Amino acid sequence: MRPMRREVGSAMEPLEQLTTDCLIVGGGGAGVMAALHAYDANPELDITIVVKGLVAQSGCTRMVQGGYNAVLDPRDSFAAHFGDTVRGGGFLNDQDLAWTLVNEAPVRLVELENRYGCFFDRHPDGVIHQKPFAGQSFDRTVHRGDLTGIEIMGRLKDQLFARRLRRLEEHRALELVPAPGGGAVAGALLLDMRRGVPVLVRARAVLIATGGGATMYRIAAPSLEKAGDGVAMAWRAGARLMDMEMMQFHPTGLLAGRSRLTGSVLEEGLRGAGAHLRNARGERYMARYDPERQERSTRDVVSRSGYQEIMAGRGTPAGGVWIDVSHLGAANVRRQFPGMVERCKAVGVDLATEPVEVSPTAHFHMGGIAIDADCRTNLEGLFAAGEDAAGVHGSNRLGGNGVAESIVFGARAGEAMAAYVAGRDLPAADAAFAAAAAQAALAPLQRARGEDAFALRERLGVLTWEQVGLVRDAAGLSAARTELDDLYARAGGVAVNPERRLNGEWQQALDVRNLIEVARLIARAALLREESRGSHYRADFPAPDDARWLANICFRGPGWGSSSSDGDGDGDGDGAAVQTDLRPARLTRMAPAVPA
Ligand SMILES: Cc1cc2nc3c(=O)[nH]c(=O)nc-3n(C[C@H](O)[C@H](O)[C@H](O)COP(=O)(O)OP(=O)(O)OC[C@H]3O[C@@H](n4cnc5c(N)ncnc54)[C@H](O)[C@@H]3O)c2cc1C
Repeated sequence: MRPMRREVGSAMEPLEQLTTDCLIVGGGGAGVMAALHAYDANPELDITIVVKGLVAQSGCTRMVQGGYNAVLDPRDSFAAHFGDTVRGGGFLNDQDLAWTLVNEAPVRLVELENRYGCFFDRHPDGVIHQKPFAGQSFDRTVHRGDLTGIEIMGRLKDQLFARRLRRLEEHRALELVPAPGGGAVAGALLLDMRRGVPVLVRARAVLIATGGGATMYRIAAPSLEKAGDGVAMAWRAGARLMDMEMMQFHPTGLLAGRSRLTGSVLEEGLRGAGAHLRNARGERYMARYDPERQERSTRDVVSRSGYQEIMAGRGTPAGGVWIDVSHLGAANVRRQFPGMVERCKAVGVDLATEPVEVSPTAHFHMGGIAIDADCRTNLEGLFAAGEDAAGVHGSNRLGGNGVAESIVFGARAGEAMAAYVAGRDLPAADAAFAAAAAQAALAPLQRARGEDAFALRERLGVLTWEQVGLVRDAAGLSAARTELDDLYARAGGVAVNPERRLNGEWQQALDVRNLIEVARLIARAALLREESRGSHYRADFPAPDDARWLANICFRGPGWGSSSSDGDGDGDGDGAAVQTDLRPARLTRMAPAVPA
């Protein structure tokens, strides 16, 4: 590994600098797999992994409960997994990406076990155990009990540490930095959160793997440090985004008042095993929405049904519904779902013997940065993988395909970056841009008075939950867009206490700006899509409309920081230069059987 080079000096404020070959932003499944594969492709490379939390101990891959989808059984097939994925995605998936996923998921699973030391549950005869997950025609979900992510990330962390890559933990990426004159990505501006110091990293290639984030909603499942940073940064740099309206809600998030456990997921396997969902009147309400499958219906239907029960006044006093597995037998529940039993115990409820209060919870963003199968974006030098990327899941993700996506595409991104940087010079970075971005990040510390970041986030959560959430319509989305623009403007005037080191209030101010930026794009796309498909439900257009909408909504911003100003004079705060394209869905392998 080459020694780190630090330089000082820039146009406006001295900036610490360092250089690297491959800069990987994010330390979840996609980021860590990218680092391992880039290193193994060329151990001479200088690789830096930057993580807002701790490597392999932050983000959502570690939180994966249910498992990882892979075709292993000879009675299963790639065609079946692909068909389930594309039908589940409402045919909006990029089918080349989905095909790559199903083909490489088993290869990477074998790698996880044989090369990296993971160990998944097995039958007594030694064959890997695969369990059923909703929306799948075969039992193909590989797992380690109900805490699969800890097994995967624990082993990957050991592997990463063994390779002695440079780790910048508790560093957040603030902004991608262009080469002088724009165009190519030449690195990123970071904030060392421990010291409160901006650092410019020049790099030959940059990977965005910050794990998306559904955390702009009042009730949300992902790890709290995720704030849509990667998508927001890429957007400001001019990357092409796709399917931004597609936000998945999980039907059963815990309700625990203002505790941070509110929103955390009680896994899908509970419904698979026979859980009952009841409203405050004790009715098994799923009989009204999907009489055949009831609680085993798909995530989108079960989530929306719960939401509609709550909105119709049939919810519990805390604004939820009940999940009940007590009829499955306490010993059985404790044996099958030890992690879920433990989680409920933390809020004082015994899952094995009594009903637990739950609500739909914002879970996974299918939309994000458009990529090709090598994780390249439309910007030179910029790659994206994992939940930050769009296309694999279309309008809805199957349980078990998320972690598979991060592992498969993280590995591909690492290899593609290693190939990309070979023989390529380190680009110069636009120092004035970086200095201005650093100044903007520091500004909340310097204001004596201003907006309260926590209050903005609270309002954002309520607004998105009520108007950009499970049930949408034109009036609500239009009003939400107006208010989101106002919130965005206010986020530009936040004041925080001036301590630089480990200042949570300051991080909140930086988070909320990105969360609002992403929420605006979700609302914008949701208003455009006048149909219902997958996770996107419009009460005013309740059916799918293949004739008009078998297409991906793509946005491209003006690039390099300019989206934050309104340039079009219509007062909507989103700028004239936003390009919107409807890209016909890529039906390269399979078309819907019956056109709507
Ligand atoms: C509770 C829960 C259960 C789930 N269960 C399943 C399941 O059973 N099966 C399945 O397939 N999927 C599941 N998922 C989805 C799955 O977790 C995701 O699809 C996947 O883990 C995303 O991986 P990632 O690498 O893209 O992001 P993550 O693993 O979330 O990692 C993101 C990383 O980026 C870092 N980061 C964020 N912002 C910045 C920044 N500005 N600068 C630097 N670093 C940053 C974070 O600290 C973190 O290290 C679940 C999700 C949740 C929330």
